[in-house]
Amino acid sequence: AGFIELGLAPELVQAVADLGYTEPTQVQTRAIPLAMGSGDDASFIDLMVSSQTGSGKTAAFLLPVLHTLIRQQAEAEVAERAAFERAAAEAAARGEAPPKRPKRKNPTQARNFKAATPGALVLCPTRELAQQVAHDAIDLVKHCKGLRIANVVGGMPYQLQIAKLQNANLVVATPGRLLDLQRSQQIKLDQVQFLVVDEADRMLDLGFSDDLAEINQLTAQRKQTMMFSATFAPRIQQLAMRVMHDNGASVK
Ligand code: AMP
Repeated sequence: AGFIELGLAPELVQAVADLGYTEPTQVQTRAIPLAMGSGDDASFIDLMVSSQTGSGKTAAFLLPVLHTLIRQQAEAEVAERAAFERAAAEAAARGEAPPKRPKRKNPTQARNFKAATPGALVLCPTRELAQQVAHDAIDLVKHCKGLRIANVVGGMPYQLQIAKLQNANLVVATPGRLLDLQRSQQIKLDQVQFLVVDEADRMLDLGFSDDLAEINQLTAQRKQTMMFSATFAPRIQQLAMRVMHDNGASVK
């Protein structure tokens, strides 16, 4: 079966075609439908996925997360338009001028920065991996209007990252720099409804266990967590117990 059969949004099917992917890899075929659930927010389950680098694991978590963000954005737009049309009809009935459509500001030009409130967060153990994942995400959203990706990693100028964070829907981060930005109130994590932990085994090797637990606490209570790891040694399972709910599934 191809990417269309996985039920992904057409913008994403087009993006994978542009990248030259003709069919999903094994981990994509297994993980994407599970991660997407039935499309109803209540059906999102937590996932533990055993996968190696080169298996296509990055798209296996990015595609379902982006799919749901696209769907939610489309639903929000429909609701906004309906509310506007209702207000316009009411104004017309009262013989008043129609209301003005709210203008969308370009947040990077706003004078007062607000804390960023992304809906999805991907955590990576290293700067290089986070940059690669963010790069892949940018490739995948090229046909999506209004979905923004930001990268938060150590060793880069704060100001640049903070400017790009504004209005980011998906943030790809290393844990240390993310917590720095959270503590300085540049980012709030309580809207995060999708949390992905990539290369969980390397996260533990690098001593990020407490940071992961802290970040998990800061994100929305109701969310989908996906953990990807080369192995599921007992210490990874312990980490999973700390950050996941009990409604999960494992994929090998
Ligand atoms: P990853 O395991 O995520 O590091 O991906 C390994 C490589 O496979 C990356 O260069 C991806 O661009 C590529 N890739 C991912 N999914 C597919 C696919 N379905 N078909 C062909 N190449 C893919």
